[in-house]
Amino acid sequence: MKPITKFRNQIIQIFGADFVLTDPNDISPYLHEERGLKRSNADIVVRPRSSKDLAILVKLCSKNKIPIVPVGGLTGLVGGAVATGGVIAATDRMSKILSIDQVNKTMTVEAGCILANIQKEAIKHDCFFPLSLGAEGSCRIGGNLATNAGGVGVLRYGNTRDLVLGLEVIMPNGDIWDGLTALRKDNTGYDLKNLLIGSEGTLGIITKAVLKLFPLPKTTVTAFIGLNQLNKVLELYEGVQKRFHESLSAFELISRIGLDMELQHLSGINDPFLQNYPYYTLVELTTSFEDPDLRTGLESLLESFLENQIIINAVFAENTQQKSSLWRIREELPAAQSREGGSIKHDVSVPVSKTVDFITEASKRVKIILPGIRPCPFGHIGDGNIHYNLTQPITISRNEFMSYSSEINRVVHDLVAEMDGSISAEHGIGYLKKSELNHYASPVKIRIMRSIKAALDPDNIMNPGKIF
Ligand SMILES: Cc1cc2nc3c(=O)[nH]c(=O)nc-3n(C[C@H](O)[C@H](O)[C@H](O)COP(=O)(O)OP(=O)(O)OC[C@H]3O[C@@H](n4cnc5c(N)ncnc54)[C@H](O)[C@@H]3O)c2cc1C
Repeated sequence: MKPITKFRNQIIQIFGADFVLTDPNDISPYLHEERGLKRSNADIVVRPRSSKDLAILVKLCSKNKIPIVPVGGLTGLVGGAVATGGVIAATDRMSKILSIDQVNKTMTVEAGCILANIQKEAIKHDCFFPLSLGAEGSCRIGGNLATNAGGVGVLRYGNTRDLVLGLEVIMPNGDIWDGLTALRKDNTGYDLKNLLIGSEGTLGIITKAVLKLFPLPKTTVTAFIGLNQLNKVLELYEGVQKRFHESLSAFELISRIGLDMELQHLSGINDPFLQNYPYYTLVELTTSFEDPDLRTGLESLLESFLENQIIINAVFAENTQQKSSLWRIREELPAAQSREGGSIKHDVSVPVSKTVDFITEASKRVKIILPGIRPCPFGHIGDGNIHYNLTQPITISRNEFMSYSSEINRVVHDLVAEMDGSISAEHGIGYLKKSELNHYASPVKIRIMRSIKAALDPDNIMNPGKIF
């Protein structure tokens, strides 16, 4: 009997048959990420119900030196949840909301909770959990923590890292690290929580978390703004930020070419304006109290920007349906780009003040390599995070276009490095960006990260082949 078959039988004996999936139809959904870059060929897929069971399983994996890959909602964009042999540990049966503390303003959850369910539960208690991203209906909080997800609320609330007080984690030797504290102050040695957040499942499996809750926004103002020139975006951003400070919760960039692709390929998308503008921003202000002046305040600021030709047009969402329609324009850009043909994608960040220079210069450089290439930059420009996606020229095939990927990645990422930016702002490294990390990170950083990995996971069983 093959050792892996023996191992499967052993875990069925310990945990029962429903712990391990055997029907290929049941296994299939756990083998590929939404982006569909690469399919897992795991030997075993398990669905534990508790931290205790998962800890016993990890101990067995450690003893037998069998790799184990934690899986959340499989919405990751860098191949982080793809397994090559070994065990996939799906967290979808560990999805309970355990408690809410109204005074401490915290919610304790299991790692398999879907993000949207956490948001809804917070609202039921007149609270707000601000992590929000396009995949929120299917990504799970364990995956959000493991990738330190960003999303559309970073400007006001920070990344996932900023929204967490405590964690419970199964370490690669099967130990359970109980760091599930609900403390806002705790300086007792190294900050293990922040080491594990963003470690993409390579240092341990997150099983529970204590999340911070915030006051529910009582007033929201959403505006979609047309601009004639990209270089006006930062003037607009600075003006809105100066006037509204922490009430500015989202400032997103959309380019006309992206909106055109949506209008062509997707149903139910409407152009908010009668004329075309080369760039748009989606701006959202929120306050945790009723503020009747918020909307009029933004209107009068935008009027002055109209007079000074910083912006050319603006519409406001009059109700939640209109707000969703405006946000849909932002959220569906990647889907529309995929339908337009090959897309070479970059998730980069530079200081906010350099975003416009980055987009302008990157577009110049990629057009030298491939005239006809169509830059479709969009994203969280208020965080300095641009999804610098490039759509294929109409004159060549998808395959020919994709063969330029390495050359184009090098040019774009070199520019990011010149501007002291990051080659992965929010999606992580996974297996997809390993070589880029190796190319751009300092040898000292790589050495420190490798030492940490070797100290915590000497047999390299925890999500091997990712990050390094
Ligand atoms: C339409 C769309 C929009 C998106 N928008 C954004 C965005 O705005 N901002 C952003 O940051 N990302 C975005 N993403 C990427 C993705 O949604 C995030 O990376 C998300 O946090 C992944 O969560 P998941 O549960 O799907 O994780 P998975 O894809 O299942 O896993 C991701 C990584 O985390 C590890 N992991 C999963 N669960 C655990 C656990 N319990 N313990 C330890 N490791 C674990 C996996 O091994 C893998 O390395 C988007 C994706 C899509 C498809």
